[in-house]
Amino acid sequence: MRVIVTGGCGFIGSAVCRHAVNDLEWSILNIDALTYAANPANVSGLAASGRYEFLEANVCDLPAMTAAFERFAPDAVIHLAAESHVDRSITGSAAFIQTNVVGTHSLLEAARSWWTSLDDAGRTAFRFVHVSTDEVYGSLGETGLFTETTAYDPRSPYSASKAASDHLVHAWFETYGLPTLITNCSNNYGPYHFPEKLIPLVILNALEGRPLPVYGNGANVRDWLYVDDHARGISSALLRGMPGEKYNFGGRAERRNLDVVHAICDALEEAVPAATPYRDLITFVADRPGHDQRYAIDSSKAERELGWRQSVSFEEGLQQTVWWYLDNEAWWRPLRDGVYAGDRLGLVARGV
Ligand code: NAD
Repeated sequence: MRVIVTGGCGFIGSAVCRHAVNDLEWSILNIDALTYAANPANVSGLAASGRYEFLEANVCDLPAMTAAFERFAPDAVIHLAAESHVDRSITGSAAFIQTNVVGTHSLLEAARSWWTSLDDAGRTAFRFVHVSTDEVYGSLGETGLFTETTAYDPRSPYSASKAASDHLVHAWFETYGLPTLITNCSNNYGPYHFPEKLIPLVILNALEGRPLPVYGNGANVRDWLYVDDHARGISSALLRGMPGEKYNFGGRAERRNLDVVHAICDALEEAVPAATPYRDLITFVADRPGHDQRYAIDSSKAERELGWRQSVSFEEGLQQTVWWYLDNEAWWRPLRDGVYAGDRLGLVARGV
């Protein structure tokens, strides 16, 4: 398999590249614009395989994408490049529209032009897998689960831009017959997670004795999926999914944000006990504007049709993640000292 992965220097994209090169022995062309969220160290081990190439390019750049397809001659594309942080989308939506919507459009057009040039067998076998989020479905109350048929109801600039990209991808299937699939997953966590997101931010703030920010009252619920399980889900959608279909991936691990922060504190307490209990650092801060209350995924279609199931429990995955950050200060220290020091993002006065 020759596969183009976009956004392969990010958190999930790098897990997909490692899984594809190391476990599946695919040949990968990773296309990434190297934004603040990218870290080439996430994939630094892959070049030695001889099955990994990197191209620094922006997915919005249609001529560059077209040239990449023609040169690499892929059998499939896994599209993960995106602006991905809800808080940043609240204070700066333009980059989200540009990359997530315009960039997806450029990639679809480059893929379509390549796909059209293939012979019948090549066109039938080709796949365009678009990686999206459960946030497109909006917010759940106390009960219920998102399924593949849940109506879209995005509420943040981030989720609205991802919803727009999902609609474009499906339109390219219906209109042109491009063999696209869409995957929507819940919150990922694990190694190499950029420390603006809740779990790595809390681990690193705790290690530095800094406040552990919890938005609102900490009762918002997310369904946590270990990133390597997600990478396997994406490859299974590519290999066994039906073009035109959507697949949801969740972790069967619904947790309130406050419970996640407590679990991190407890794991750190065991690993590196501090003079003051880590839980004492918890600080409740102003809620995120328009903060969705609850996300939870029904993965039964992926289990039934792709033979996929999450394998890592939340407790096990969190333990592994905490240990990974303890063992990999050389990875996160330059990010904390340079790219993002942990300041609060995404606060705006509503109605102003
Ligand atoms: P990330 O922010 O860690 O990485 C994004 C990567 O895309 C970075 O390497 C960045 O440089 C690259 N990129 C950004 N703009 C680009 C552009 N214009 N051209 C080329 N490359 C560009 O994101 P992530 O958390 O790994 O998420 C990957 C995908 O999965 C995204 O599409 C996101 O919407 C989706 N997703 C993420 C989660 C999650 O919990 N992190 C959950 C559901 C879905």
